[in-house]
Amino acid sequence: MTARIIDGNALSARVRDEIAQRAAALTARGVQPCLAVILVGGDAASAVYVRNKVAGCEKAGIRSLRFDYPANATQEEVMAKLADLNADPAVHGILVQLPLPKHLDETQVLETIDVTKDVDGFHAENVGRLSQGLEAFIPCTPHGVMKMLESAEVPVQGAEAVIIGRSNIVGKPMAMLLTNAGATVTVCHSKTRDLASHTRRADILVAAIGKPRFVTADMVKPGATVIDVGINRLQDGPDAGKLCGDVDFEAVKAVAAAITPVPGGVGPMTITMLLENTVISAARVARAARK
Ligand code: NDP
Repeated sequence: MTARIIDGNALSARVRDEIAQRAAALTARGVQPCLAVILVGGDAASAVYVRNKVAGCEKAGIRSLRFDYPANATQEEVMAKLADLNADPAVHGILVQLPLPKHLDETQVLETIDVTKDVDGFHAENVGRLSQGLEAFIPCTPHGVMKMLESAEVPVQGAEAVIIGRSNIVGKPMAMLLTNAGATVTVCHSKTRDLASHTRRADILVAAIGKPRFVTADMVKPGATVIDVGINRLQDGPDAGKLCGDVDFEAVKAVAAAITPVPGGVGPMTITMLLENTVISAARVARAARK
C-alpha cells in the first residue's frame, strides 16, 4: 500500500483564489483587507515565514505592513507599535512573529493585540472562545490541518485522533478543533510514557514535535491519516540543508492511507488560513460600516 498524498499546495491555491476574490470585493467596497506583521530580531526561519506571509498577502490583494525591529528592541517599543496598530481602523489583522527574543514578555505582547485583530488566534480570549466552541479566530496551523482533513474527506467524527505536541500554537488548539469536530483526542508530549502505544491507536495522527523524522513506520496504524506539521532543516547527512517534517515520510507512506508531505503540506495552508482570517476581519469591519 502507498498512501494518498494530501497536497497542501494544491488546496492552498484553491482556497487562496477564493480569498483573493473576497479581498477584491471588499476592496471595491472601500475596505481593502490589511495585515500588519511585526518581526523582532528573528532567526533566519522567522524571516522566511514573514517574507512568505507578506508575499501571500500581496498575491491575494491584501495590503500588508511590515515592521522590523532589532533583536534588542524594548517591550515599550513593541507595545507602542501595537497600540498604534490597534487604533488604526485601516488595519484588520495584527501578527507578531514568534518566538520573540527572551527579554520580551510574549504573553503581554499577545494580550495587547486587539482581540478583533488577533488573526493568529493566540489571544487568551480567542483561545477561550475556541475551547467553548464559540466563533473565534482559529490559530492558522491547526485550522489549516482541519481544512486538509475536510478536503481529503477524512472522517473525523468518532475517529481516534492522537496529537504529538502540546504547544499553544499547534498541539493544544489542534486538540480543541478535533474535539469540537467529534474525534476522541489524545495529546502526547515529551513526558508521555510509551508514546508508540498511543500513536498506534490513531486513525488520525498529527505530529507537531520539531524533531526530524521522529515518527517511524512502526508507530503508525496501517490505514491511518498522518499529518506532519513539523518543519525541520536537516543539519547533516546526504540531505543536509533540506527541509523535512517530523515524520519519516518514505517509510510511513508505505503504512498510512493518507499523508501530508513536507514541504508542500501543512506549511502553505498555515499562511492561507492567516490570509483568510484577515479577510474575515475586514469583512466584519465592512459589515459594521454598513449598519
Ligand atoms: P514546540 O517546541 O513548542 O512543541 C513541541 C512539542 O513536542 C512539545 O509539546 C514537546 O513536549 C513535544 N515533544 C518534544 N519531544 C518529544 C518527544 N521525544 N516525544 C513526545 N513529544 C515530544 O513546537 P511547536 O508546536 O511550535 O512546533 C512543532 C513543529 O511544527 C516544529 O517543527 C515547527 O517548526 C513546526 N511548525 C510548523 C508550522 C507550519 O506552518 N507547518 C507552524 C508552526 C510550527 P513538551 O511540551 O513536554 O516539551
